[in-house]
Amino acid sequence: MSKAAKKPVKEKVDILIVNANELITLAGGSEKPRVGKQMRELSVIRGGCVAVKDGRIIAVGKTADVKKIVRAETIINASGKTVMPGFVDPHTHLVFAGSREEEFQMRVEGASYMEILKAGGGILKTVRETRKASSDELLGFGLNTLDVMLSHGTTTVEAKSGYGLTAKDELKILGVIKRLNQLHVVDVVPTFMGAHAIPNEYRSNPEDYVKLVVEDMIPKVAERKLAEFCDVFCEKDVFTIEQSRRILEAGKAQGLKPKIHADEMSSFGGAELAAHVGAVSAEHLLYASDEGLKAMAEKGVIAVLLPAAAFSLMAGRYADARKMIEYGVPVALGTDFNPSCWIENQQLVIAFACHFMRMTPAEAITAATINAAHAIGRAHEVGSIEVGKKADIIVLNIPNHMFLGYRFGVNLVDKVIKNGRLVVDEETRLAESVKFFSKELE
Ligand code: FE
Repeated sequence: MSKAAKKPVKEKVDILIVNANELITLAGGSEKPRVGKQMRELSVIRGGCVAVKDGRIIAVGKTADVKKIVRAETIINASGKTVMPGFVDPHTHLVFAGSREEEFQMRVEGASYMEILKAGGGILKTVRETRKASSDELLGFGLNTLDVMLSHGTTTVEAKSGYGLTAKDELKILGVIKRLNQLHVVDVVPTFMGAHAIPNEYRSNPEDYVKLVVEDMIPKVAERKLAEFCDVFCEKDVFTIEQSRRILEAGKAQGLKPKIHADEMSSFGGAELAAHVGAVSAEHLLYASDEGLKAMAEKGVIAVLLPAAAFSLMAGRYADARKMIEYGVPVALGTDFNPSCWIENQQLVIAFACHFMRMTPAEAITAATINAAHAIGRAHEVGSIEVGKKADIIVLNIPNHMFLGYRFGVNLVDKVIKNGRLVVDEETRLAESVKFFSKELE
């Protein structure tokens, strides 16, 4: 027998990431979202290694240990870099037409979001443009947006409808969301949000619009299996507590799990309602009451905080993340990507969370990965680097996790591995452009 035959047979894998200065695994959080001090536990492996095969993570550990059991054709050397789960963005309004840069300028000059909405702008302007747009136009826009998100390290996103506000147009948007999930490598989780605004044609009889959402739209969405969640903009001058409760209960009865835009512009009782209806998450929460937050902690409702949205409102107020963490509310972070808060980048959201809400980088990383995955029902699949999970992994050009938030305003992504495939490689791209310019100089 030859010498080689005596060696243990190493399993052949597709990709092996080796020597990560910090491998942030976030292991052990798939059952329940992290709360309180757990949010600081990233389960970091120094000199870490991940083995990927057939789209899944099959080994995680110290580089020397994993190398003993596997071999790979593609080896990614992450020495000096940080490796972590791909970002999960649990709150986006991904599909819309047009833009609102004029309103941005009005806000810069002092107009409030609600003033703009009451003047027929804001969401209602986007509704007019989205109704006119074809599915293909919306699809093209969505694909481009997902490309930008992916290049910034986001591998799973939630997407809400809500710029149609008729059964036909809401179904059109949800159909686009479904196709985006089929066509793009990024996983897209659909939420029905017909209760995003009162459309102009129901201005004088909003109750009739609530009836339309409850009796017509929700059954159609559920029957076609076009959404997993049902969301509502519960706010003064939008949907009342009672209307929001009816919409969320109607969704629940048809299998749509409740989410709620709560207490964003005023203390309105949205956090309390979220706990009352057993919502998966409540979002924004800038003005949430102490009682509401305590009720959320008790019921395990996840607070999805959106500091980029607060930043874009320019009111100088942010959700009280420290209080939420102290109360034991699980905190997640999202972009709130939409035409009044045009941001695709979870790295910048982490920076905002650190600067404006005093979350530590570790807490913000937990919030933008495993807790965000919990907020959209995907924690068993993504949000941490553990054997058996989807191989959604990013390599960042930073030596340790504390650089997230600290170094901001540039894209820190070096590589993105999605479903076990290398889909973004900045190192190669930059090497190519250096070659190109060197040639020019000859
Ligand atoms: Fe939103």
